[in-house]
Amino acid sequence: MARYRESVCKICRNEGKKLFLKGSRCYSAKCSVGKRPYGSGQHGQSRKKLSEYALHLREKQKVRHSYMVSEKQFSKLFETAARKKGVTGTTLLQMLESRLDNVLYAAGFTAGRKQSRQLIRHRHFLVNGRIVDIPSFRVKPGDEISVKAASMDLIKSLMETMPETPEVRWLSSEKSNLKIKVNSLPEREDLDPTIKEQLIVEYYSK
Ligand code: SF4
Repeated sequence: MARYRESVCKICRNEGKKLFLKGSRCYSAKCSVGKRPYGSGQHGQSRKKLSEYALHLREKQKVRHSYMVSEKQFSKLFETAARKKGVTGTTLLQMLESRLDNVLYAAGFTAGRKQSRQLIRHRHFLVNGRIVDIPSFRVKPGDEISVKAASMDLIKSLMETMPETPEVRWLSSEKSNLKIKVNSLPEREDLDPTIKEQLIVEYYSK
């Protein structure tokens, strides 16, 4: 698992966007992006023109950080995506999006991917009736995610503290029963429109 030794809020500030790496704090007025909407550090407020290489690198880092994936895991995922049929950039995003830690966050069961990871590692969730404690586990269409009976109250109390999240087309979530059904893999239009995945493909193709 990727470890971030510096403040994760610095990552958001440097990327200029909320990456939701800190759970409920990200939804509060304490979020650093809202308070200081410029890069971290001494030169954070000066605008720099990025080189072409830096643009490619930044896009890759932004996506990698938002899914909280290590450099090694990200490059392995890219290699796998490049070997699959279809558009490599879209396949890469589909693979990231279908990780169990992301699915819980996207369905509104957790406040962020970091919290998803902690809860998955503590064995609170089941996929198709079996406990899964691997955050990078990739779900597939038809899978059903549920919460262990003994963990229902904990997850419900966490969900009460979170704002309503928009519906995700490729997932059906029953919040009252704490169940998520994977209807399909996400299409490109279901994913963050601000991601420029072609830049990531070009970064690895150099
Ligand atoms: Fe920090 Fe979350 Fe705000 Fe990012 S979105 S700056 S992790 S509080």
